[in-house]
Amino acid sequence: MPELLHDWVSLHAAIRPDAIAVVGNDDTLTYAQLETRSTQVARILTEGGCHKGDRICVLMPKCPAAIVCLLAIYKAGGVYVPLDPASPPARLEKILDSCDTRWLLAAGPTTRLLDAVFEHEPFRTSISIGWMDAHPPKETTFRIAFSIDDVRSQPVTPPVSRTTRRDPAHILYTSGSTGIPKGVVITHANVIHFVEWAVKYFDLSPSDRISGHPPLHFDLSFFDIFGTFAAGAQLHLVPTELNLLPNKMAEFIRASELTQWFSVPSVLTYMAKFEAVRIGDFPTLRRLLWCGEVFPTPSLMHWMRRLPHVKFTNLYGPTEATIASSYYTVPTCPDDEKAAIPIGTACEGEELLVLDERLQPVPHGQVGDLYIRGAGLSPGYWRDLDKTEAVFLRNPRSSDPSDRIYRTGDLAHIGSDGLVYFLGRADSQIKSRGYRIELGEIETAVNAIASVRESAVVALSSDGFEGASICCAYVPAPGAIITPVTLRKALSTVLPNYMLPSQWLVFERLPTNANGKIDRRQLKEAFAGDATQTARQS
Ligand code: AMP
Repeated sequence: MPELLHDWVSLHAAIRPDAIAVVGNDDTLTYAQLETRSTQVARILTEGGCHKGDRICVLMPKCPAAIVCLLAIYKAGGVYVPLDPASPPARLEKILDSCDTRWLLAAGPTTRLLDAVFEHEPFRTSISIGWMDAHPPKETTFRIAFSIDDVRSQPVTPPVSRTTRRDPAHILYTSGSTGIPKGVVITHANVIHFVEWAVKYFDLSPSDRISGHPPLHFDLSFFDIFGTFAAGAQLHLVPTELNLLPNKMAEFIRASELTQWFSVPSVLTYMAKFEAVRIGDFPTLRRLLWCGEVFPTPSLMHWMRRLPHVKFTNLYGPTEATIASSYYTVPTCPDDEKAAIPIGTACEGEELLVLDERLQPVPHGQVGDLYIRGAGLSPGYWRDLDKTEAVFLRNPRSSDPSDRIYRTGDLAHIGSDGLVYFLGRADSQIKSRGYRIELGEIETAVNAIASVRESAVVALSSDGFEGASICCAYVPAPGAIITPVTLRKALSTVLPNYMLPSQWLVFERLPTNANGKIDRRQLKEAFAGDATQTARQS
């Protein structure tokens, strides 16, 4: 068992240096190259004053160089904080501020974004930037502290590390209902535990060719990356733009001869819709995994009928419990489109609990709140004890204070087959295009616009790639003239594209229920009716 996540790469670099480790659009790296380059970046970080526990941000497209940076940060004893290059500057600033970083590694077409962020103090003076591709930008508002040329002259012996597996490996920022993204802290031990189970269960070996499908700031990407490195296999980074090009995505899987494909239901359903997959397609593929959302049974049936040689596994789990906490391998293609696919049973070392409001187990068949206990649980949210204590609770059935359970916010029941079934959310968190979104974050951003008096954001499920359409009801401030176009423009400066509402309705007053709260059910009906009317008119 490795002590730290990057040890898997060092191990394979020593025994199979020329084996291919990562394949990207523009670059392919062997285990030896990955090992050497990450050590050199680690050396420049430690020489620049990076200490154990320092947060180091990475802002670059999904590419082999980004994997080098991730490993380098671990080797330098730092904590990796991946940033989404599709975020607007204002959201990145919130994350940079929250994680209190002194270092940022960047590459690719991120110059405009960085220019906007580094216009401001304190970022300009407090953060050093390392430019990690061969084309550092000129005439920018930010100063580049070191470039890839400086890295190449570094020694190839790794810096001495004092990190232990209980220390944080990364912080992943997810949508926060109060308008500020929440940083989930994940330790080396959290990831190593899941990966060791997954390598065994999925029978991963050096001959595997594994997809790197989700963006690198998604929790799921850590399984692709470290599942691959633990097995000494090849990681094939899937270009993000293929998500919306079903036939090209299918061509990518064929050409890369993937053996394990870890995807998300929105992409799989979209590919099914466009009939992108032939009967008996992807002859090398052994397993298709999905996580993050319900995979609608009709789409699953579509896939299973076309790929009878492939095993299909549903993984379930929130970022706070590291990658996945339960699994279910579908034994045979369902014959009923309404059949519910369970999220299954807990992965090794994890436990799923369906509890009532007094934290007592609910009888089988009854709906309860889903809690997770076990080795995957994050220590909590970065520098936010209140949020941590609100959802990471002491296990009421244990006298050990370190024994905790995590309230997922999901609803579930245990079926007569003993398997756990996911029944939706107890709150207003949704998934759209695979992204986890708190509708409260959007609502906070809309309410902050001066020309809006009040607003409410609800979601309707949709069968498009988005999976959900975000709807915003708003009341203009007295005398203000606003339209969905002006609102969307204002919001796009603070929210990423995937959080922008696609439907808008203006109200004189938002409808309320008997308790005086905003009547969200009525709003959903109003948006559903509006969508039907629009569809009829077009
Ligand atoms: P994230 O933290 O982005 O991984 O999102 C976690 C949430 O996604 C969970 O709390 C669930 O609501 C949802 N989720 C994850 N996996 C599944 C799954 N296999 N089926 C249904 N919902 C899922």
